[in-house]
Amino acid sequence: MTLKRNHQLQGSGKAKLFTETTGFVVAIQDLVPSTNNYKKHILNDPNITNDTCKKCQEKSETIHHHSTCNWLTHRHNQVANTVHQEFAITCGLSKKKPTS
Ligand SMILES: [Zn+2]
Repeated sequence: MTLKRNHQLQGSGKAKLFTETTGFVVAIQDLVPSTNNYKKHILNDPNITNDTCKKCQEKSETIHHHSTCNWLTHRHNQVANTVHQEFAITCGLSKKKPTS
């Protein structure tokens, strides 16, 4: 199954992904990204003493938390806003860059 996903990633378009990025995508598809929760409770990594989110420090860092983490969703919205504005300027829909 992983080989099929890798094949789809490599052959799905002209986007060139770094090998590391492809690894993250496959790990996320398999729901086993390298989160603190995974390292502490599944890998039993002795170096991980705290499984809380690296960004918000509020909850256990799992793949499910990544979709609801306030810090990450705020950052995601900022990036999406910037990308949206650049597309609007490029397409002639907006002439001004947003003030920050
Ligand atoms: Zn968080």
